[in-house]
Amino acid sequence: MARMPGATWRPVKNYTNGGQQSVRGVVIHIMDGTLAGTESWFNNSDAQASSHFGTGKGGELRQWVDTSDRAWAQAAGNRDWLSVENEGKGGDALTDAQLDRCADVLRWAHKTYGVPLQVASSPSGKGLGYHAMGGAAWGGHTSCPGSRIVAQLGEIVKRAGGSGSSAGGGSSSGVARYEVTIGGLAYGYGAHGDQVTRVGKALVAKGFGKHYSVGPGPTWTDADTENYADYQRSLGYHGADADGIPGETSLRKLLGTLPGKTGHVVDLSNVIAAARKDPGAAQGHQTHAADVRVVEAALKAEGLLSATYASDGSFGTTTVTAYAAWQRHLGYHGADADGIPGKASLAKLGKAHGFTVKA
Ligand SMILES: [Zn+2]
Repeated sequence: MARMPGATWRPVKNYTNGGQQSVRGVVIHIMDGTLAGTESWFNNSDAQASSHFGTGKGGELRQWVDTSDRAWAQAAGNRDWLSVENEGKGGDALTDAQLDRCADVLRWAHKTYGVPLQVASSPSGKGLGYHAMGGAAWGGHTSCPGSRIVAQLGEIVKRAGGSGSSAGGGSSSGVARYEVTIGGLAYGYGAHGDQVTRVGKALVAKGFGKHYSVGPGPTWTDADTENYADYQRSLGYHGADADGIPGETSLRKLLGTLPGKTGHVVDLSNVIAAARKDPGAAQGHQTHAADVRVVEAALKAEGLLSATYASDGSFGTTTVTAYAAWQRHLGYHGADADGIPGKASLAKLGKAHGFTVKA
């Protein structure tokens, strides 16, 4: 029996008695709801769901399932991993207080089970992991807990007493966290897209990859900032000019060119028309193939659409399903995640993949 001191013990109905076989680490989730609502859901036997711990945005920490029992949070990952659900909706970042509580759980799991203070990126690893890393075997929850929280895992490890994503150890406090837009593409903390991966690969190729424990890309983390800062210092930059957030000059030097928008302009009304018409028409029916191909290529780059469909120019059922996954990834729900593009979700896809949207 193991209950964590400092966590409020609020046992729920859903769990497998004595079912925790081992503890490889702690898996971070997003509730897509409130602490109270999640607790009542875990007491509903129809839900078939639970987690060991839950945090509130204000810093409350509850323990719902004893850690010698198996919680039902991540399918095949339940037997060997503890779970923490965090209050908030998809796309949220964790609050400062939630980062502290997650660090408390990780530190306790380190002392109690020998969980290493490091970020895990797959079910075969150990440490602080996240739901999506388990893929289909863990239920295929690709948007749990979302890229903003995945980017915070290194910070949780640091607060638990580990070195976080910084191989240098502790030198990374005060890492710059802001985003810039260069050539229409986002860089810096939290930026997401192919351009982030491209920068990371270029840094590694030039020997500035020592801060990566996960990545590079597609989401910009503190490790990217630290590696980029090393690169800036190698160019002779100092102070704020070497804070690890790209400027135009250093970026062009790193990549040999300045990446920019592909030049593609996608007409929102064309894409909407295609998404409404193509699924009901014959397989492969094309309404606005040129616009649709650009969107499909971006969905493919996000890992949401297979290559088979990525250039058919038809916004059929498979593409609608892939687009709905993109909307859920952004935190949309219900009718807002129906797979029919809206202006905001399409603009975000364009920002990550270099096209602009004409409404
Ligand atoms: Zn989850």
